[in-house]
Amino acid sequence: MADIKKLNTWFQVADNSDFSIYNIPFGVYSDGNVKHHACSAIGDSIIDLFELESADVFDLNRSVFEKENLNDFIALGKTVTNKVRNKIIELLCDENSILKKDTALYNEVIKKQNVVKMLMPVKVGDYTDFYSSIDHATNVGTMFRDPNNALLPNWKHLPVGYHGRASSICVSGHSFHRPKGQTKPADSETPVFGPSKLLDIELETAFVIGKGTQMGDSVTTANADDYIFGMLLFNDWSARDIQTWEYVPLGPFLAKNFASTVSPWIVTLEALEPFRVKGYEQNPPLLPYLQYSGNKNIDINLEVYLKPQNGEENLVCTSNYKYMYYTMEQQLAHHTVNGCNINIGDLMASGTISGPKETEYGSFLELTWRGTKPIKLKDGSERKFVNDNDTITIRGYCKKENIRVGFGECAATLLPAKN
Ligand code: CA
Repeated sequence: MADIKKLNTWFQVADNSDFSIYNIPFGVYSDGNVKHHACSAIGDSIIDLFELESADVFDLNRSVFEKENLNDFIALGKTVTNKVRNKIIELLCDENSILKKDTALYNEVIKKQNVVKMLMPVKVGDYTDFYSSIDHATNVGTMFRDPNNALLPNWKHLPVGYHGRASSICVSGHSFHRPKGQTKPADSETPVFGPSKLLDIELETAFVIGKGTQMGDSVTTANADDYIFGMLLFNDWSARDIQTWEYVPLGPFLAKNFASTVSPWIVTLEALEPFRVKGYEQNPPLLPYLQYSGNKNIDINLEVYLKPQNGEENLVCTSNYKYMYYTMEQQLAHHTVNGCNINIGDLMASGTISGPKETEYGSFLELTWRGTKPIKLKDGSERKFVNDNDTITIRGYCKKENIRVGFGECAATLLPAKN
């Protein structure tokens, strides 16, 4: 893969910032004066695109940056959105740009990230969750079925998935109550009702659909990237005890639909392109509609942290998006092969991303092996699953040739069950 073309910005960006000049993601923010404006990020700051367009730098109707979410902006198409992103990069690299020279404009446009509130970046119409990490599927199959036959017969032939719930997807920084539901304790003949005792996380990423299709149309692995606007971090909160009892035979339902968390910044596929890597060798060979060529996996370092109430943050696991068996392009081709239509803003989540090592498992279910190997925290306490008032934060970034492109944070706090 070719070296990344080096850029120099006049804006001061720390070396470990997720928001280097190579990133330039998209999001939506609010503060005391702004209800909702589209924005980008550079270093520790946001770039208000509505205010920036007062200088007519993008040649667009600026009202598109004043919407509640990015859906209308994304609908302008990649030709336009890439032009906007490239223009922001140009303004941040040109020492004589209007953004650098015009102090009044600069002061309207640039705000510190820690004084604004990030909002849901898109209105999610439909949300799909896949199950595409081979290590995760193998671990779960080993635990719940047969260690010698962990993967079900379909797994290596298609990216397994299910349709999830869009209404309860929240942006980073939220909190939610421990779900209640029906479970069947091992020592009981009949189910019981109460708060979930096994509340878990799932370390995932998700991609945002950037272009819709009509019913009957299918996206191919070769043109899938035209339909993918970008990626974000995703936590698919899961109540394992509810899941174990309810999932047969139709799959996840109330164990998953009470809350999911996304990071606020959509990192564009274009920003991630330099970090593409070779995918898994897929054997047995797949049906032609799932085959693809080129490097379609992405090297994204992933981290999960747990912070007890008033306590210190603990690194719980690390993983990497490159461990995915199926690529986003294959997931999208499979999703639409039957003619299922997709819409701008739809979210498609990866499924739990586990790596081969025990420290690289993307859920407490795997990390503690169903609670049999609790995790020790810095304060001496242990966790089998997530406790009330714990905050879980996912972070993710790509790094190559000292160039860093990151996602920021995907954080949420689990509150006690509601009375
Ligand atoms: Ca999941």
